[in-house]
Amino acid sequence: MVKVAKFGGSSVASAEQFKKVKNIVELDPARKLVVVSAIGKANNKDNKITDLLYLCYAHIKYNISADTIFSMIENKYLTIAEELGLTFDIQGELTKLKSELTKDIDEEYLVSRGEYLTGLLMAEYLGYYFVDAKDLIFYNYQGKIDYEKTQDAFNKLIKKHDKLLIPGFYGSLPNGEIKIMSRGGGDVTGAIIANIADAEVYENWTDVSGILMADPRIIKNPREIKVINYSELRELSYMGASVLHEEAIFPVRDKEIPIQIKNTNNPKNTGTIISDNANIIENKNIVTGIAGKKNFSIITIKKNHMANEIGLIGKVLKVFEEYHVNIEHIPSGIDSFSIVVETNAIKPFIHELVAKIKNIIQADEINVTNEISLIATVGEKMKNSLGLSARLFGSLGNAGVNIALISQTNDEINIIIGVHNNDYEKTITALYNEFK
Ligand code: ASP
Repeated sequence: MVKVAKFGGSSVASAEQFKKVKNIVELDPARKLVVVSAIGKANNKDNKITDLLYLCYAHIKYNISADTIFSMIENKYLTIAEELGLTFDIQGELTKLKSELTKDIDEEYLVSRGEYLTGLLMAEYLGYYFVDAKDLIFYNYQGKIDYEKTQDAFNKLIKKHDKLLIPGFYGSLPNGEIKIMSRGGGDVTGAIIANIADAEVYENWTDVSGILMADPRIIKNPREIKVINYSELRELSYMGASVLHEEAIFPVRDKEIPIQIKNTNNPKNTGTIISDNANIIENKNIVTGIAGKKNFSIITIKKNHMANEIGLIGKVLKVFEEYHVNIEHIPSGIDSFSIVVETNAIKPFIHELVAKIKNIIQADEINVTNEISLIATVGEKMKNSLGLSARLFGSLGNAGVNIALISQTNDEINIIIGVHNNDYEKTITALYNEFK
């Protein structure tokens, strides 16, 4: 059995962190496939290598010297190598990269060097075989992972080498060019590797002991979620709870490989297990998590007798489509319905949009309410829990929160409510206290 262990930027931010990684990896012989991010922040004031590389590129592009930034980057790698007594010629790699810093340098190639160089150091330190991700993670021209080619390459590698170190965040296109993922993409590499290796578990090592039940900026020391399923995680991350890159879910979900979020700085803590395995539902809270986002607008459209008119909502939705506005929710009544969207998405043309809708369906009245926060209470056990809505709305009533909108889908995995931005924190606190 094999485990994939992916370590994020803060887990590799210093020689001390490298040591923690080594201890963790050596503790379990199944941790044969290790993925690393680029060196991240060692403290709050520090910079991530990836950010510095982007900055480097911007300087070069505008003909400004990138020397100072590059030496900051150099310093980080050299210090870690020196403190750990590594013999790999990292200075040689850095000098080579510096010589490539011309206007023609490819941005994605440059940015990918963050994980590439971190991977080289970690490979030596762990005694793992270094695999350049350009020779393992293959994309097709549509920008999708070519699983067949990736699997083939993996099979060949694993025949020769038992333990692999793979830098995250990039791969290559059919012409050999480097392609990077979106920010935080190291998580995605880990998930792809877990998929092709048929891993027993995908461990995602970070600097928090798992996913929290609510935003710690609002709730002091919120509970950690012990187990969560993939759909719940999707709902929570969509609503702003960020721990794992969203796209990291699909490769492992397909093969029913659980993800375990673990803390490099506190490895004994079990962290959070993300899995659809029905057996673990027993251990779950009724509410798994609460998350929310501010700054939505509710556009309420009223028209008498609209309940008898077919195709009316469709016409309105078409207008939003024309303006490329993503719709979040559509709560409806008998003679009215509302469209909920992010305020920023409609700001530039709101008056035009309202006039157009009014005209197209001959609406009686259209009202726009801004400064709305959406808050999702998520939990797969909620649907079988009698009296849950009463508790939820009761707790908000007691807290004096006025509810502007309620939305719930049939699968009942979440209940979304809209409140005024001013009540955002109060709402999350009331819900958390009720269901913690
Ligand atoms: N280094 C990349 C970033 O900062 C990818 C990652 O850390 O997963 O976004």
